[in-house]
Amino acid sequence: MHFTGTVYRNPYWPTWPLLEITQGCTHNRCKFCTMYKDVPFRMSPMEWIEEDLQELAQSDPDARTIQLLSANPLVLTYDRLKPILEMIHRYLPKIEDIYLAGRVSDLRNKTVDELKKLRELGMREISLGVESGDDWTLDRIHKGYHAADVLEQCHKLEEAGIAYWMTFLNGAAGRTHSLEHAIHSAEIFSQCRPLVVGTSGLTLFPGTPLLDEAARGEFDPLSEKEMLEELKTFVENLNVDCTFITHHTVAANLTGSDFLRRKAGIAAALDHVIRHGDMDRMAAFRRNKRTL
Ligand code: SF4
Repeated sequence: MHFTGTVYRNPYWPTWPLLEITQGCTHNRCKFCTMYKDVPFRMSPMEWIEEDLQELAQSDPDARTIQLLSANPLVLTYDRLKPILEMIHRYLPKIEDIYLAGRVSDLRNKTVDELKKLRELGMREISLGVESGDDWTLDRIHKGYHAADVLEQCHKLEEAGIAYWMTFLNGAAGRTHSLEHAIHSAEIFSQCRPLVVGTSGLTLFPGTPLLDEAARGEFDPLSEKEMLEELKTFVENLNVDCTFITHHTVAANLTGSDFLRRKAGIAAALDHVIRHGDMDRMAAFRRNKRTL
């Protein structure tokens, strides 16, 4: 199998088989991310993809799902994705669901009709690293699109019948804009119909522009307590039924389906942690994190 650099995959999707169809990230400019700093973007050669599928046809001939890598394989145009999906079905005829991740802007190069055809070929669920619905924050972290793009592209997915995940990056705005980040994100996410809303907390990793800015006093990161307060504000303002997933250190038990039914309980649980949680322990856990 061909894998380039460190393999990142969505842990909530079946962990195998994986198929690398692109390498690196087309954007590579988000100020909090080092995942693909040393991996220039390129599409995998079709010969590599075919070799890997031949290998999978031997090892996993009954596979029903497959996760495509790397950061944003979704960026490939319809004309490039279609033959890859067709090749997957040729070698793995029992495949039902093809999962892949991408950026909101990766959807601009595809029409709704093209998305519908990709869905028919198995692309039924994708994950979007949205991070925020607040334009100031999106600019601040160099995300490369705005809230209006989130709405436009997510509505295209809904029209095409493709389920999607949206992520909220807790802490991304720093202290000065935390409230706007939480509220505007919740407002934008609530105008969409995501299958899953996932949240993760900003960690300032070595090598990221945001860590350098924090060292120079140009970015004021939230404390653990402030992160939880921001997350609670986001939850309280989020009005969309979905599965809610949070990677916050204390919050594994807040993950589950039926968000709207559980929303008050999630907010109350966060409130309890805000008042009684061991913030030093949470900060130590975050310091030990090595990757997004
Ligand atoms: S967060 Fe995603 S889109 Fe941004 S640079 Fe990292 S891999 Fe690319």
